[in-house]
Amino acid sequence: MGKKCIGVDVGGTSVKLGIFDVDGVLLKKWEIPTRKEEHGKYVLDDIAASIRETLKDENISMEEVVGVGIDVPGPVKKNGYVEVCVNLGWRDIYPAKELSARLDGIPAECGNDANAAALGEMWKGGGEGYSDIVMVTLGTGVGGGVIINEKIIAGRHGLGGEIGHIHARDDEQEYCNCGGRGCLEQVASATGIAREARRKMAADERPSVLRQFGDEVTAKDVLDGAKAGDALALEVAETACHYLGVALAQTALIVDPDIFVIGGGVSKAGQFLVDMIKKHYEEHITISADHPLIGLATLGNDAGIYGAARMVLK
Ligand SMILES: [Zn+2]
Repeated sequence: MGKKCIGVDVGGTSVKLGIFDVDGVLLKKWEIPTRKEEHGKYVLDDIAASIRETLKDENISMEEVVGVGIDVPGPVKKNGYVEVCVNLGWRDIYPAKELSARLDGIPAECGNDANAAALGEMWKGGGEGYSDIVMVTLGTGVGGGVIINEKIIAGRHGLGGEIGHIHARDDEQEYCNCGGRGCLEQVASATGIAREARRKMAADERPSVLRQFGDEVTAKDVLDGAKAGDALALEVAETACHYLGVALAQTALIVDPDIFVIGGGVSKAGQFLVDMIKKHYEEHITISADHPLIGLATLGNDAGIYGAARMVLK
């Protein structure tokens, strides 16, 4: 039997788990609920018990497992220390160390979920075949992860890859979740795109396919409208892609990856979105025609378990 590795992606409502062979073939995938009561004190016990049970069901011995990687929705320091993880109620914890202790001391690693997703996409997703990738996740917020030389660059303070909070707009009056104003996330996340559409609809009386949705308009409505050629929807999409293009160009000039991989719900708009980002990006990276590519993520919600498992392979 070949060696295996396990990836654990801890979210606020469920924990996704996957058993992989060391070449990245997903052998078994499952999910358990995240028990957040009492400051999430049962989460690691539940994960360990579920791993033991599943390994038994699959006839895999603990000796065959080279390690388990766990990613969490919050900042993780270099030594695996989590000071606070709001979504889980955790404080002052070393998740990898504690999980390892519950699983006969097998090697364990812990990382941030957005960074793990980036590593997963490098391993078996939109960045497969490359060693240097930057992933940008356009969801409720804008997440990011930087992988250089097949390693997560989390930075000294866990700020590495926080692309969503790169400053974009000087004139933004509303506050971002981070406490700042004018972050990329405020204009390029699904939430931000919908808000921009509401603002544009309120600003004038132009007819638009978006008006039928009123305040319930979503980023998907905007991108569908833009694809259909609706002028107002196109303006909203162009605004988001302008700031994304600028942020990617700036990021390229700092870390110069092989490729940017765009994921998250908004990326379901596909090549249309990539092409629009690329147009703005190319305007801001004129220093060389030879620069990072932009492509789509392919692993969807499984990126986290792929990346978490990949963390234990050196
Ligand atoms: Zn922010």
